[in-house]
Amino acid sequence: MDERTYTADAEPGDHVTVAGWVHEVRDLGGIAFLILRDKSGKIQVKFEKDEMDEDLVETGLNVHRESVISVTGEVEAEDRAPTGVEMLPGSVEVLNEADAELPLDPSGKVDADLSTRLDNRTLDLRKKEVQAIFEIRAEVLRAVRDYFRSIGSTEINTPKIVATGTEGGTELFPITYFGEEAFMNQSPQLFKQLMVGSGLERVFEVGPIFRAEEHNTPRHLNEATMIDFESAFIDHEEAMDVCEGTLKAAYEAVAENCTEELDLLGYDDFETPDGDFPRLTYEEAIERINATGELDEQLVYGDDLSTEAERALGDDVGGHYFITDWPSEIKPFYIQDYEDDPTTSKGFDLMHPRMELVSGGQREHRYGALVEGFEQQGLDPEQFDYYTKMFKYGMPPHAGWAYGVERLIMTMLGLENIREAVLFPRDRQRLSP
Ligand code: ATP
Ligand code: MG
Repeated sequence: MDERTYTADAEPGDHVTVAGWVHEVRDLGGIAFLILRDKSGKIQVKFEKDEMDEDLVETGLNVHRESVISVTGEVEAEDRAPTGVEMLPGSVEVLNEADAELPLDPSGKVDADLSTRLDNRTLDLRKKEVQAIFEIRAEVLRAVRDYFRSIGSTEINTPKIVATGTEGGTELFPITYFGEEAFMNQSPQLFKQLMVGSGLERVFEVGPIFRAEEHNTPRHLNEATMIDFESAFIDHEEAMDVCEGTLKAAYEAVAENCTEELDLLGYDDFETPDGDFPRLTYEEAIERINATGELDEQLVYGDDLSTEAERALGDDVGGHYFITDWPSEIKPFYIQDYEDDPTTSKGFDLMHPRMELVSGGQREHRYGALVEGFEQQGLDPEQFDYYTKMFKYGMPPHAGWAYGVERLIMTMLGLENIREAVLFPRDRQRLSP
């Protein structure tokens, strides 16, 4: 359709062909209106029954809602039309008629629950405010990629079918790989570290991760998208700087380039985080949580932070913050411990007041200490030979982190459920579409 014009570009005086979906047909007797919707917006098409060809009027007014049509005709200024212009059709072509009954109302007049929406995601995404979430998601990923490129980071893609897990055996999805057991990757962690030692030095990846999370929660998916970053010759403090920079770049890009989308989602005061994010040690964090009095039971050193604990601290801090210096025993084997205090790790989390967004840290790059870490975590270093042996051939000191994209979008837009930020979520109940 070479000569197709977007509805938003149709100007009074133009003779155009527009194409899209039938949003609504309103028959007022002598005249009738068909509202045609495309990606750019909507346009009103006016049918004057007495003055127009009978077949044309018939076609225009009998077509079912959400059918795909094209209309060719004159554009005129019309103050009473919602967009200030309307079309007088010379011809109407029905390209594909929709069923009269729809499982979901894309005009949004009839509410649908999340499950019905996800079952009919195609129709659901015809709603501008749902599209807005994914336009913002795309802008976030663009901004993040640009930011990484501006600091000399190379985008990589690593395997998603792997021989071993990294983040705990219970969350692995096993698959059969030519008769042998394999797994869906839980994280690009080990691969990105290998690339830090490759001469690429500084890498990032945007890709899927798979976790057999047992429970359905509003912030866990079984397939999520992760933004991973890893760099040679930086420490955990510098990795936090990059992490903070990435987050601010994402917010600023959305504030600047997604004003229409933010409007649709009802934001008149979208705030971009500024100032340095506070960096609390784990010890300070649990003291502050205990001091809020929000928890039934006081936390003690070594406890992981529950959802309630994260909430209590988030309310107290009131913005993004880091938790640093985690106890070594609750951080993974690949995180480095402090030289003078092996019970404390150089791991960190970036927190949004509502939940964890990022985990990262300085990595253990010394072969001996790394293998020891495997054993302490009850993992068999032999199984990870492809990874550990590269630490014998010149592995630089390095640090990095990983974001969940959907959590970033969810917290940025205040979405209640992480599934809102995924086109086709995978969870305990949902394997299709
Ligand atoms: P949580 O404790 O919140 O379940 P985690 O500590 O297990 O997360 P990490 O292994 O640290 O997760 O992964 C890094 C980031 O990836 C997390 O901070 C989060 O943003 C995201 N992430 C991890 N698991 C999931 C999941 N199942 N669904 C969506 N995002 C996830
Ligand atoms: Mg984590």
